[in-house]
Amino acid sequence: MIRKRVENILDRYRVTSGKGFRLKDFDAGDTAGLTLEKGEAADLLDQGIEQLAGLQDKLYAQDRWSVLCIFQAMDAAGKDGAIKHVFSGVNPQGCQVHSFKAPTSTDLDHDFLWRHSTSLPERGRIGIHNRSWYEEVLVVRVHPEYLTGQKLPPSLVGKDIWTERLEDIAAYERYLSRQGTVVLKFFLNVSKAEQKKRFLSRIEEPEKNWKFSAGDVTERGHWDSYMAAYEAAIRGTAAKHAPWYVVPADNKWFTRLVVGAALMHALEDLDLHYPKVTKAQKLALEAARKALD
Ligand code: ATP
Ligand code: MG
Repeated sequence: MIRKRVENILDRYRVTSGKGFRLKDFDAGDTAGLTLEKGEAADLLDQGIEQLAGLQDKLYAQDRWSVLCIFQAMDAAGKDGAIKHVFSGVNPQGCQVHSFKAPTSTDLDHDFLWRHSTSLPERGRIGIHNRSWYEEVLVVRVHPEYLTGQKLPPSLVGKDIWTERLEDIAAYERYLSRQGTVVLKFFLNVSKAEQKKRFLSRIEEPEKNWKFSAGDVTERGHWDSYMAAYEAAIRGTAAKHAPWYVVPADNKWFTRLVVGAALMHALEDLDLHYPKVTKAQKLALEAARKALD
């Protein structure tokens, strides 16, 4: 019952067209009327994780589709926690996690998609990209000086560069979807006030100190520029075959629920099944059983 409800509310956060998209229409604190107190949310997440494991097993056995989950967010929005919880029940052999930091010099010797494309999930696998090619229209857009390090021919760096990059990303995601990669993009939408709270607890609680980086506070100073860049990115790349989920991220339990539900929804849409056994294979199985006997 509650699961149906979560699936229904997914529509609220799923963006499949950039037309008229505005970030300010999305509330970071939304929980769609669900509360944590009743234990509903935890039960639901546990059930979801169990079902995900079953779906992933079929995805792997069928070996046709792959799923790419992209996570983008401001610092402390809960990317790591969401990944840790949502994928906690799935077989590690069927998952490939990559975290993308600032590009290395080898990365910079190539086009910007290169390092990401070499990390795409194989058929039958779920790829989790903690940050992604979107950094190229987010952090780089907020800090255009990073472009200098990208060794691009100067004549190719014009005023339309961000629109061009968004076009290229959108085209690449369409290509991937036509190749059997299901592309899901999660923007964990944390509010500026909640981010402040989380930074403070990283400073105050010794076991969280390691998570704090002074650079994160500097980036917070560019909050409005980041939000404008996110809005443009979602507008330019939201598509039916590569939806964005603008996930409310002020309540971690709700973030995880929505991410899990979105993944389940996508996997259920694939009509996954174990490979069918042919007549010849059945005969071979029978023969093998006899030999064992
Ligand atoms: P956490 O802080 O939770 O460990 P994180 O994803 O923030 O995770 P960091 O090592 O803190 O990891 O940050 C990675 C940094 O790399 C981010 O500031 C991000 O913007 C930056 N980065 C990622 N891709 C690019 C890129 N293409 N160009 C420049 N910077 C990038
Ligand atoms: Mg960080």
